Amino acid sequence: MDIHEYQSKDLFAKYGIPCQFGRSAATSEEIISATEDFPQGEVVVKAQIHAGGRGKGTFIDGYKGGVKVTSSKAEARTIAQKMLGNTLVTNQTGPAGRKVQTIYFAQATNIQKEYYLAILLDRATSMPVIIASTEGGMDIEKVAEESPEKIIRLYIDPLLGLQAYQARLIAYSLGFEGEQVKQMIKLLMNVYRLYDEKDCSQVEINPLITTPEGNIMALDAKINFDDNALFRQPDIRALRDLNEEDPKEIEASRHGLNYIALDGNIACLVNGAGLAMATMDIIKYFGGSPANFLDVGGSANEEQVTNAFKIILSDPNVEGILVNIFGGIMKCDIIANGIIAAAKNVALRVPLVVRLEGTNVALGKKLLQESGLPLVAADSLTEAAQKIVELAA
Ligand code: GDP
Ligand code: MG
Repeated sequence: MDIHEYQSKDLFAKYGIPCQFGRSAATSEEIISATEDFPQGEVVVKAQIHAGGRGKGTFIDGYKGGVKVTSSKAEARTIAQKMLGNTLVTNQTGPAGRKVQTIYFAQATNIQKEYYLAILLDRATSMPVIIASTEGGMDIEKVAEESPEKIIRLYIDPLLGLQAYQARLIAYSLGFEGEQVKQMIKLLMNVYRLYDEKDCSQVEINPLITTPEGNIMALDAKINFDDNALFRQPDIRALRDLNEEDPKEIEASRHGLNYIALDGNIACLVNGAGLAMATMDIIKYFGGSPANFLDVGGSANEEQVTNAFKIILSDPNVEGILVNIFGGIMKCDIIANGIIAAAKNVALRVPLVVRLEGTNVALGKKLLQESGLPLVAADSLTEAAQKIVELAA
């Protein structure tokens, strides 16, 4: 789960990670009241969407920049009104962009130098890793590509946690001296404590800055959480913003379906995540492009299959459906009945290829055949993928 910058900064404040004074606003009235709290001086106006690259983004009406440093409250209000309700396109949003429904105002600060800092889970070593660089404020992927020697990586033993000597090592590697080393160690320890206690999968600060007065502070904040741990993080769960999520994905999660929307045209309905991945791969192999990842799980019932079809068909990009089920605990006849019920319930406007294998496969196939549904049966995964790619084209 992702949260907004302003929510991340609330968490930073709770964990003693220094950041600017700030206020959020979701309506025109709140834009006025939020800015009233600011002392005189420069205010940064920041569009809140679950995507980075806002500063270099462009709104669909041509207005440039989702992060603006303004010289007065009045100017900040005018710019905030332009951003609110507008759609921001950044290199992370895709061409459709994201509608801005919240604005964050931050007390502007002068920047001496920008750094990069993140803690995330490294799956290869099963350890949290700190990534730090003196090249902050820009795309870290680009830094990694062009000057990999400027990226510091430090692995943390999850049982021991971040050790003071490790934090010191990072502070020195980034070139900090004297008082700033102490500030940096404290900040690193606090970021790690937040990462650990709140079950984060990533805490990213880009840029982390030094001010001309010599203070270190987080100018931006991006936190992602491990969905599997949300059950024990009620305060984090409360930060979920459904506006930022695909309505089809929200609907799927209500029915216990694992669904992820993709931008192709062939929908897949599969049981088991591994089989879903293999199905998407083979669709690609035969020149098609998957419209989604959909795993109905090992024990889906007729109602879930119906809902899965409804969600798939609500995507206007879908031009074909491939059902690929391996009957194990889940029997093929149950799935066949689910497909038949679903097809009666929802208008099947695109070709459907079904491949069943496993427990009760003969009965499942018979049911489908006798149903009179306009579907194409396939015996192997290869045949199924070839047929659906052909029919959807
Ligand atoms: P992002 O573009 O989505 O990563 O948003 P950021 O919060 O990182 O802001 C983008 C850029 O705006 C930063 O890298 C800074 O260069 C600039 N910026 C943001 N806040 C301030 C500020 O308070 N003062 C100044 N001078 N620049 C700022
Ligand atoms: Mg940033």
